[in-house]
Amino acid sequence: MQAMETKIVRIKEDHEEKWIEEAGQILKNGGLVAFPTETVYGLGANALDEEAAAKIYSAKGRPSDNPLIVHIADFSDLEKIVEEVPEEAKKLADAFWPGPLTMIMRKNEKVPYGTTGGLETVAVRMPNHDIALKMIRAGGGFIAAPSANTSGRPSPTMASHVAEDMNGKIDMILDGGSVGIGLESTIIDLSEEIPTILRPGFITQQMLADVIGRVEIDAALIDNNSKVHPKAPGMKYRHYAPKANMILIRGEKEKVAQKIKQLVEEELKEGRKPGILCAEETAHLYPEGMIKKIGTLREELTISRHLYGALREFDEEKVSSIFSETFETPVLGTAIMNRLMKAAGHQLIEV
Ligand code: AMP
Ligand code: MG
Repeated sequence: MQAMETKIVRIKEDHEEKWIEEAGQILKNGGLVAFPTETVYGLGANALDEEAAAKIYSAKGRPSDNPLIVHIADFSDLEKIVEEVPEEAKKLADAFWPGPLTMIMRKNEKVPYGTTGGLETVAVRMPNHDIALKMIRAGGGFIAAPSANTSGRPSPTMASHVAEDMNGKIDMILDGGSVGIGLESTIIDLSEEIPTILRPGFITQQMLADVIGRVEIDAALIDNNSKVHPKAPGMKYRHYAPKANMILIRGEKEKVAQKIKQLVEEELKEGRKPGILCAEETAHLYPEGMIKKIGTLREELTISRHLYGALREFDEEKVSSIFSETFETPVLGTAIMNRLMKAAGHQLIEV
C-alpha cells in the first residue's frame, strides 16, 4: 500500500465541529478515519461501500473472513440494514444503547459481503461516545469499524497507540483522549434461536438475561482447550498478543507471587528480561523495576482500561516474557480473563 499522510487532530470543544465535518467528508469519499469510542479506538470506513471496507482490511492486515462491526448513531437506522429488527434487539437497545454491546442480526441487501466477511448476518453497535456519534452521522450513518490496531496487536486505548500502528496508512485520527473501558464490546448473536454471547465484555451475561431472559455463551469461550470453533470468526485468531511469551499464574495471592518470583529468577539466570503484570494491591510482593501495576482491584475499570496499554509498553521495553496475575473481578472479570488468556496463548499455571 502507498504511504499517505495521516492527519492527527486533538478534539477540543472549540474546534470539534470543523474536524468532525472533515472526518465525515473523508468517510463519505471512501477514506479511513480512526476515532475514539468508550471501548477502544475504532478504524472507520463507510460500511455500505465495499471498496472502503476493503481498505480497513488492508490497513490492519486483517484476514478477509473476519467481519466488521457496523456502527450507527440512531436506533431508527438499524432497520435500514437488517432483514428485520428482532424483539430482543429493541429491548437490548433500550437497555444498553448507546453502549458497549454489539448485536448480530440477519443483514439486508444494503450491507455488502465485503463488510460481513461473506456472512448473511451483520454485527451492529451504537457507541456511547459523543465524538463517535457525531462522526458517524457526519460520515453518512453506517460506519464499519474494527479496533484501530494492526491485526494481532493489542487494541488501541489511546490515539498514540493508533498512530503507532496506522500512521501513513489511514487518512485521519481523531484524538479524543484515553478510552473509558479499554476492552472491546460484548457481542451477542440474535440471529439464532437462543441469543448467544460470542465475545464477553462490559455487558455481562447476567445483565443481558435480566432484559431478555435466556442467554447462552458460545461453547468455545468456556472450554478454552476444546476443538469447538468460536462462532465469531475473529475470536479464533491469537488476538491482543504482546510480542513476549506470556504466562498467567492463578491462585492464592502469596502463592502466586512466590511462583512468579521463581519464574522470574529462572529467566534472569538465562540472561533474559522478564516483566510482571500485577494489581496495585499485590505490587509490594514483587521486585521493583520489573512490575507494571495495571490498576486497583477496588475499581476494576482501572484494570480493563490499562491492560492493552501495559501489553504495548512491554513490547516497547522488549521484555522476553510476561508473568501475570489473573484478574477475576466482579463485572469485567470474564472479559478481562478472556483477553488475557488469548494474549497468553492459554498458558495458565494454577498454584
Ligand atoms: P473487532 O471489531 O476488531 O473488535 O472485531 C469484531 C468481532 O466481531 C470479530 O471477532 C468478528 O468475528 C465479530 N463479528 C463481526 N460480525 C460478525 C458476524 N456477522 N457474525 C459473527 N461474528 C461477527
Ligand atoms: Mg480487534
